[in-house]
Amino acid sequence: MEQTTSNYSYSNSNNSKNEKNINLNDIKQLKSKYYETELEKEGLNSLVESLKTKVRTLQQQIFVQESSIQLTQQLKSEKEILLEQVEKYKQKINDSDLQLNLIRKELSSLREDNNDYIRKYNELQQQNVQLQQLNNLLELDKQQLNKKFRENDEEKIILQTELKQCNEQSNLIENVKDEIKTSFEKLDSDYRRLQCKNSEFELEIENLHCEVKRLREKCVLQYHEVDESNKLNDKLKNDIKDLQRLIVEQDRILREKNQQENGIHPAYCNVCNKYIVGVRYKCGHCDDYDICSNCETSNHNRNHMFIKIKRPIDTIGNNKFGKSTLLPEFQLIEQNEQDIDHKVVCNVCHKNVRGVRYKCGHCTKFEICTNCEAYPFNLHDPTHVFIKIKRPVQIDSNEILLPSEFRSIINKSSNI
Ligand SMILES: [Zn+2]
Ligand SMILES: [Zn+2]
Ligand SMILES: [Zn+2]
Ligand SMILES: [Zn+2]
Repeated sequence: MEQTTSNYSYSNSNNSKNEKNINLNDIKQLKSKYYETELEKEGLNSLVESLKTKVRTLQQQIFVQESSIQLTQQLKSEKEILLEQVEKYKQKINDSDLQLNLIRKELSSLREDNNDYIRKYNELQQQNVQLQQLNNLLELDKQQLNKKFRENDEEKIILQTELKQCNEQSNLIENVKDEIKTSFEKLDSDYRRLQCKNSEFELEIENLHCEVKRLREKCVLQYHEVDESNKLNDKLKNDIKDLQRLIVEQDRILREKNQQENGIHPAYCNVCNKYIVGVRYKCGHCDDYDICSNCETSNHNRNHMFIKIKRPIDTIGNNKFGKSTLLPEFQLIEQNEQDIDHKVVCNVCHKNVRGVRYKCGHCTKFEICTNCEAYPFNLHDPTHVFIKIKRPVQIDSNEILLPSEFRSIINKSSNI
């Protein structure tokens, strides 16, 4: 078609007549060609139509084939179901075969039983015949027994005569019985004699009971005696315990005395935890605080004064001494610690007491200085103890510092 239009445009551009004729021819040719192509087109259209119909038939065929495929699948599934059913029926057949076998066996056993019964029936019939024969025999026996019964009657008569004889014998026995009676009486008299003896025995038993009672009472008395002796025993045990305690106490006293003689004080040092030997310093303000001369420089309450005890004090029976506050509270006077002046005069060297002051605990107005206190000989009553005063305090020098009960304890032990 495009070709034809191009040709047509071409003819327009050239307006010559020759060319127009040629062009008409061309058009005729083209027209014939057009008709040809039209015809071809119709042919092709019919071909397309026939192809379309073919396609439709093919589609129908495809549809038919698909439906047939579905049908075969359905058939397959049905076939499987049927195969399962067949399996089941086969099993059922097997089961019924087994049952049939069982029934056959039962039948055969029943047949055997039946045979047995028939055999037994025959045996019973034979027995019946034998029993009839026996019955006949018994009939014969019965006749014989009747005959015997008659014979027995005769025997009975004979026995009656024998009974009479027996009665006679019974009379004889009665006589014998009388004889036995007389002998029984004799035995009775014997029995009475024995009863008398029995009563005698009973009396004796009663006597024995009395004796037993008496012995029991004696036993109770003896039990009481034992009880009392037990009490005495307990008392003695207690006494022994008391004595043992006394011995222990005596032992302790002896030990302490022994220690005293060896210069050992009956006190432990609170610093080194050893028995104090030599000089004992006892705190006058604490209940129970002692230190030895080695530990004297150790720290204790600065305001506390110590009592210097040179010889051991016998505190036996006087625990109060070890466990009491011996000195009153002192009022301290503040001073320069480097150069302490106690403002008292030494009773030995008559100089002012400086540094440490020793005041007699037993006397009024007796003071010594450190130097005089250190002399190895006695400058004062050796039974008196001194209070070591390191810091100046307010003390009325007319006052006796130690309470009287402690002074007497110290004096007593010094006189031993
Ligand atoms: Zn103290
Ligand atoms: Zn010590
Ligand atoms: Zn002095
Ligand atoms: Zn004194």
